[in-house]
Formats: sequence, structure tokens, C-alpha cells
Amino acid sequence: MPMEILESPAAMRDCCRRLRAQGSLGFVPTMGALHAGHMSLIAASRQRDAASVASIFVNPAQFGPQEDFSRYPRPREADLAQLEQAGIAAVFLPTSAVMYPEGYASYVEVEGLSERLCGRSRPGHFRGVATVVLKLCQIVNPERAYFGQKDAAQVAVLRRMFHDFNCDWEMIVCPIVREPDGLALSSRNQYLSPAQRQSALALSRALRAMAEAHAAGRRSPAQLLACGRKILDAEAGLRLDYLEAVDVQTLLPVADAAAGTLIAVAAWAGSTRLIDNCVLA
Ligand code: AMP
Repeated sequence: MPMEILESPAAMRDCCRRLRAQGSLGFVPTMGALHAGHMSLIAASRQRDAASVASIFVNPAQFGPQEDFSRYPRPREADLAQLEQAGIAAVFLPTSAVMYPEGYASYVEVEGLSERLCGRSRPGHFRGVATVVLKLCQIVNPERAYFGQKDAAQVAVLRRMFHDFNCDWEMIVCPIVREPDGLALSSRNQYLSPAQRQSALALSRALRAMAEAHAAGRRSPAQLLACGRKILDAEAGLRLDYLEAVDVQTLLPVADAAAGTLIAVAAWAGSTRLIDNCVLA
């Protein structure tokens, strides 16, 4: 069956209703510029669900006024070809005007969580994310929705929202896909110059060093963070936004770096903001 491309919420809703009547439906929301990280979520859904659908929408509500909304990559044809190849049954491609028409007034605020980690340096970001994910999931009404651990704070915000709003979409979180040298895949990596890409490796290097220190018995968050910070500070091409050891659910700093603690980092390489994280074993 050829992949359906739908632009209106009503058409997408009808299509998803038909698919769900035939078996389980999985949903992978994306902003496009697809890479192996996105494709791993799609593969996970293809493996588990009778049918899988995706969306591509560069959501203006989650970008700040000084951020990269207008230059965000939009390789539409290549994205569609990859989705079709992966066996996606239908893709939702709404415009901003369709998602936020004149008079649009409803937003989701996940209090507290939305101001932590990336939410601190990107005010309004998680409000935009939560709003669009709720809208998209309402339209698709999947059995399962797939997200990447790459955006660990987003996972915490969405988990809280799904729970608070009694959503019965199961949330599946897939591991971070990395380049062989450790760099976490991101649609924004294509902004990086070769030198910036080299600097960016310090993020995964710092996380690895911290995970190793933890495995060797270090349990003090301050000590672990100092170990990571040393590596990040030594990289002149990076400007650190945050490096934190937090609880995966509340995103609040932990007093003891127990197993399951989230180490999250964000840094600027030139004008490109990069994030990465690991969960301590
Ligand atoms: P985005 O297009 O950046 O909004 O990402 C769409 C989904 O893909 C989100 O759930 C991301 O967490 C996930 N994702 C992005 N990069 C990766 C990666 N390197 N590994 C796994 N999942 C990813």
C-alpha cells in the first residue's frame, strides 16, 4: 500500500481511525530532517505495531524568537522517501496555519518541569512541545507514541502530561542513537562546521567519563559534575549551558547519584545548541 500524505487534521484522524480498526497503531512525531535516531523510533513501532504513522511539523510554538525556526532544515522529499521506505502507512504534514489557526488560544503548561534543564534557557519551549504533542496525539489517537531518550527533559514533561491528562497512549522511549565517535544524532548537527563538530564530541566524552567515574564508585553528584565540567571547560569551541545530575522524573538535582540518575548536558557550538544525556547504570 502506498504511504498516505495528509495535511488536514480531519483527514489524518479518519485515516488513523481506519488503521486502528485493523490492529495496533504506533505514532512517531518528528520535526523532519530525518536521521537514524528518528528511524530507530519508526523501526521500534514497525516491530511492535500493526501499522505505524508519523508526523513532520516544525512547530513554531516551541521555538523562541531568537531561535532557528526559519532556518531549521526541511528536506521534505528525502524525508518522505525515508518514511515510505520504512513502511510508514501515513504521514501527517500540517502547516502552522492548520495547527494554529486564527483565534487559536489553548496551550499546555506542565508546571515546574517546564522550567528545568532546557526549559530554563528556552522559556516557553516545553509549553510548545507539550501543546503540539497533545494536539498530534489527539488527532492520531495511537495505541503507542514513540519518543527518543535524546530529549530526556521532553520525555519527563510529556510523561507528566500524559499522566495528568489521563491519556491512554502508551509512551515508548527509545535509546539515543549515536555516530560511531559518540556524537548523538541530531537534525541540528548539519549546522556544525568540521571544527565545531569536533568540539561537540566533548559532550559525549564528558558523559562517558562521568558514567565511568560513577561505575568506579563515585556517588557524589558534585564530584561527578566536576569531572564532566573539566572535560567540557577544556573544549574552547563549546559554551556550556548546563550540566546537571537530576532525578529522571522531576528533573530536580539529586543529593546522591544513585543508579537511574539522569546526567544531562547542553552546550553551544557557535550558534548551534546541542544536548546529550546518560542515565547512570
Ligand atoms: P525531533 O525531530 O528533533 O523533534 O525528534 C523527533 C523524535 O526523535 C524525538 O522523540 C526525539 O527525541 C527523537 N530523536 C532525535 N534524535 C534522536 C537520537 N539521536 N536518538 C534517538 N531518538 C532521537
